[in-house]
Amino acid sequence: MLDIIPVKAFQDNYVWTLRNGKHAAVVDPGEASPVADYLAREKLELAAILATHHHPDHVGGIAELLRTHRVPVYGPKGEPIATLTHPVSEGDRVAIPQLGVEFAVLDIPGHTRAHIAYYGAGALFCGDTLFSCGCGRLFEGTAEQMYASLQKLLALPDDTRVYCGHEYTLANVGFARRVEPHNAALASRERDAQRLRAAGQPTLPSRLGDERATNPFLRCSEPAVVESASKYLGARIADPVRVFAAIREWKNKT
Ligand SMILES: [Zn+2]
Repeated sequence: MLDIIPVKAFQDNYVWTLRNGKHAAVVDPGEASPVADYLAREKLELAAILATHHHPDHVGGIAELLRTHRVPVYGPKGEPIATLTHPVSEGDRVAIPQLGVEFAVLDIPGHTRAHIAYYGAGALFCGDTLFSCGCGRLFEGTAEQMYASLQKLLALPDDTRVYCGHEYTLANVGFARRVEPHNAALASRERDAQRLRAAGQPTLPSRLGDERATNPFLRCSEPAVVESASKYLGARIADPVRVFAAIREWKNKT
């Protein structure tokens, strides 16, 4: 039975740790010490490291972990990550036999130039592309790329568990409610997230079906989202990529 545990790093990063019996794999270890401490405390043997993109808060701990664990490091072929042993891109598969799992690699550029996601065992590790009720900023890619990447993720089954890189849900839901004030699913999601955070619990993983119903960046053809984006721009727009670009810009300013 595969368990997926969030190990906290920095202020709001999660290093997703997959474990099964005595083996573990980690996704996006931006910091080594919380991961090393967790592995030691739980007597787990590291089997692999997976990275979604090159930002230091996702890969900064890899070199230090490699000093004590000799394991394969998977990550995006198109990004400058010196510690990768296995550069991968869409169409590749990542098997971790010790955990009995295999992931498909998806190219999801936008936040960074060659950002990737790992999908398998009903779980999606999507780094800083799709967030719970939000999406990553466009640091290296265009709105067109990010929109297409999010649409690609949206094609996965509704019961996919979404493991993103940061605990941003409450702030994201607050913005989403400004975009869609009358979305009842969003109001209920806000109550759930408040309850979890008040209890010191992560709000992740989220469920892709809930993202479909509440995440404004996945709802750029919904009349209420189109309306709000048009109001923000002060001009009538309908093209979903333009709607996406408008709400991404609006969110940046909040
Ligand atoms: Zn990032």
